[in-house]
Amino acid sequence: MTTTGASQTDAHYKAPGVAGYADVPLEAKERLFGQVKADPRFSDYLYGCYECGICVAACPSARFYDFSPRRIAQAAAREDVELIYQQMQEDIWECSQCFSCLRCPRGNNPGGIITIMREVAVSNGLASAREALTGYSRIIYKIMSTGTQVSPDMLQQDAFPDWGPETADVSANLDLWRRALPPETLHTTTTGWAVSDKTLIELYLIWLHTGSLDMIAEVDASLHAILQELMEERLEDEGIEL
Ligand code: SF4
Ligand code: SF4
Repeated sequence: MTTTGASQTDAHYKAPGVAGYADVPLEAKERLFGQVKADPRFSDYLYGCYECGICVAACPSARFYDFSPRRIAQAAAREDVELIYQQMQEDIWECSQCFSCLRCPRGNNPGGIITIMREVAVSNGLASAREALTGYSRIIYKIMSTGTQVSPDMLQQDAFPDWGPETADVSANLDLWRRALPPETLHTTTTGWAVSDKTLIELYLIWLHTGSLDMIAEVDASLHAILQELMEERLEDEGIEL
């Protein structure tokens, strides 16, 4: 795989192979990329790169940040562990996970590669993952304890005072948010959080058995402990032995 300079669509091009994080041993970077590559989804998400820049043109994050899905795909294809480590500490958190980059003519899924890189960053407790998830503890708690999503009704200043003044604007325009999120179940905390006991138990079992819950242990140990206790107690009440 060869690399070239910036395409016209790659507005904020960062030279590939820029070696940052020199204090981190190469073995550690190789170990992390090894985990990315070992993910069973990886081979479905990367088939090489034409360097056409179509993914960059389609990517909303590339318009606003120094970010490029092409750089992600190329670094992964070249197995450039130095650049991949840098991307795991910086770039991957700029992705909005919209998957517009799926229009890649080569069949790549840069957003999917980023999903795997994020999961590896979280499960290894990288500084970037801890920073990116700061402020989301209560979101994770709500999702993993209730088994469902955060609804617009939660976007209130008294619920999230640490989210800053923008929350007031969101709160003042809840009708608009509801129109933007047509499914009725997303409108209120009442209907949005109505998850059946059977579904919740299944979700708890999935999160415990697949290691999904353990992924957050390295980034937020106390949240992990709270959720683990909550899930195990509930399963115990149901007579389910772990
Ligand atoms: S999934 Fe990420 S990389 Fe792909 S288009 Fe969306 S923001 Fe860009
Ligand atoms: S669209 Fe696909 S082939 Fe083109 S630059 Fe992006 S990842 Fe490479």
